[in-house]
Amino acid sequence: MKFYVSVDMEGISGIALREQLVRGEPLYEEARRLLTLETNAVTEALLAAGATRVIVKDAHGSGFNFIPELLHPGAEYVMGATRVENRFPGLDETFDGALLIGYHAMGGTSQAVRDHTMTSQGWQSLRLNGRPIGEIGLDALLIGLRGVPVLFVSGDDKTCAEAASELPGVVTYETKAALGRHAALMKAPQRVREELREAVSRAVRSADRPKPLRLAGPYELTIRFLHTEQADARRYDGVRAKRIDGLTASYVSDDLTALLAMAF
Ligand SMILES: [Zn+2]
Repeated sequence: MKFYVSVDMEGISGIALREQLVRGEPLYEEARRLLTLETNAVTEALLAAGATRVIVKDAHGSGFNFIPELLHPGAEYVMGATRVENRFPGLDETFDGALLIGYHAMGGTSQAVRDHTMTSQGWQSLRLNGRPIGEIGLDALLIGLRGVPVLFVSGDDKTCAEAASELPGVVTYETKAALGRHAALMKAPQRVREELREAVSRAVRSADRPKPLRLAGPYELTIRFLHTEQADARRYDGVRAKRIDGLTASYVSDDLTALLAMAF
């Protein structure tokens, strides 16, 4: 069995502040350690469940957040930022499932730790074919293009609720209950690692796994910017890219990956 694990940082236990998420900040070094150890707990559970190959992608910011010396030797690691066209290097149809670890709720979600969609500065929120969508939905669709289902999602309570509504049958695990964008009722990271191993194990051993997420085209992505000048800076051909109003632009394509490449 082969599994692909995409790891973000906002939903990792013990993390709720910007200062923990940005390289160079004093709190970042401790947060990297939490990230690395929580990732290892997932790898351990996958290997114990019979995984023959585990690829883990560092999906936060620069893609260089793990502490290499502490990483579990039983997995391989994708590090470094990749373009959206190649968001999950190494993933193909031979994989049995994907896991989204340490994820966060979509931009605009209230009382959610570090809610955003791909960027906190670039825009407020995204809609795909009229429906609000966050990173869970976008990543599950990109993974679904390879015929692979998302089996498991971890993060705060809002992340888990979003995952459950986007991905029928997915197993979720709540690392913390968000009390605001920068506050949460936390479980101790050691307890989270223990419970995470158990929850991942349940998800991958389940006989009743979710199906790959698919959405039929054509696709329309609507971006709601933070400032009008961000919308001003885009180019619009009136066909594939349109300005809807001061803060909103929309992009259309029959190809989801091409659409995201054009819009991002
Ligand atoms: Zn992140």
